[in-house]
Amino acid sequence: MSRRSIGLDEKLREYVLAASLREHPSLLELREVTGGLEEAEMQIAPEQGQFMALLVRAIGARRTLEVGVFTGYSTLVVAMALPPGGRVVACDISEEWTSIGRRYWEQAGVQDRIDLRIGPAQKTLAGLIETEGEGAFDFAFIDADKENYDIYYEQCLRLVRRGGIVVMDNVLWSGRVADPNEQDAETKALRGINQKLHSDDRVDISMIPVGDGLTLVRKR
Ligand code: SAM
Ligand code: CA
Repeated sequence: MSRRSIGLDEKLREYVLAASLREHPSLLELREVTGGLEEAEMQIAPEQGQFMALLVRAIGARRTLEVGVFTGYSTLVVAMALPPGGRVVACDISEEWTSIGRRYWEQAGVQDRIDLRIGPAQKTLAGLIETEGEGAFDFAFIDADKENYDIYYEQCLRLVRRGGIVVMDNVLWSGRVADPNEQDAETKALRGINQKLHSDDRVDISMIPVGDGLTLVRKR
């Protein structure tokens, strides 16, 4: 019975978690530690992490990119979904936040799969295009400063192979993208990238209401 997506109230979201969440103890601990930070809301939801892990496995990803690490939950969930020898190149500008993640990457035994690059992501991604070449990655997760999403998107699209997936986070921005009164730079940037993706014939897309909204982008 459904010709439209169901909205999740708190009760139903709790049901989703109780009925389906399989969270590794290191992920749970990292989520609890991050919950004590003022910026905790930046972390992805655990059900989103599990979805991304499934996606990574479904496409057989071995080489992945992350733009926006924070305390490393999304990094860890993707790293654990990779086969041995898999790799996440993870970009962030914060030593302070990413150092929290490192402890849990080590605890979970996947630190060898994570190549953390501290510095502006635009520069790191430009370097990867030079050193690794276009199409060298299978999967990318974009979740850093929203004003630069379009730049990260273009760079990641070059870096993923045909059939590879780019996941754009926060595309619904707590609903603000649909409110014309919201005219701040971040909301406008997200609205702009959403509009661009809608008619981008280089890719297949699906915008899904998981977490704060994700757009899955498949490179044609
Ligand atoms: N994916 C993370 C998770 O699951 O917990 C959340 C990422 S958080 C929303 C955004 C991150 O982008 C912050 O850690 C911030 O330091 C980083 N960031 C902001 N500007 C950046 C830039 N120019 N280059 C790289 N990272 C940046
Ligand atoms: Ca996010």
